[in-house]
Amino acid sequence: MKIPRAQWETVLAHAREGYPFEVCGVLLGRHDSEVRVQAVVPVVNRETEQPRVRYQIAPEDLIRVQREGRTRGQEIVGYYHSHPDHPARPSETDRRVAAEGLSDGVVHVVVGVEKGERAHGTAWVFRDGAQGFEGEALEVE
Ligand SMILES: [Zn+2]
Repeated sequence: MKIPRAQWETVLAHAREGYPFEVCGVLLGRHDSEVRVQAVVPVVNRETEQPRVRYQIAPEDLIRVQREGRTRGQEIVGYYHSHPDHPARPSETDRRVAAEGLSDGVVHVVVGVEKGERAHGTAWVFRDGAQGFEGEALEVE
């Protein structure tokens, strides 16, 4: 996937600011031969029980973002969330949640945040066939 530097910085800053809780958001853009992110929309983490290790995007937030994107000719191409003091790769919970939905080809960015300071992100694509994540090249432009 490709993402403009300013949008990438928005994702990393959101992850740092939300520490020690997980933050989440939606990636808008185009999905042609590759995923090209054009806009990043932070949303509220609706998880109330374990917000340090879980996140939840409310359906109404998703619908709102989808509408926002449509007016600009952008689709939802993926999601991002943070892992406070945990590695920047999908957890088993992330895999299970993704497997519950129809998410083939959807990009998931995972941002590890160490002590609320250092943020490091990686990109993944979920494959229904393999029921798991594949590493995705991340190009910040
Ligand atoms: Zn996760």
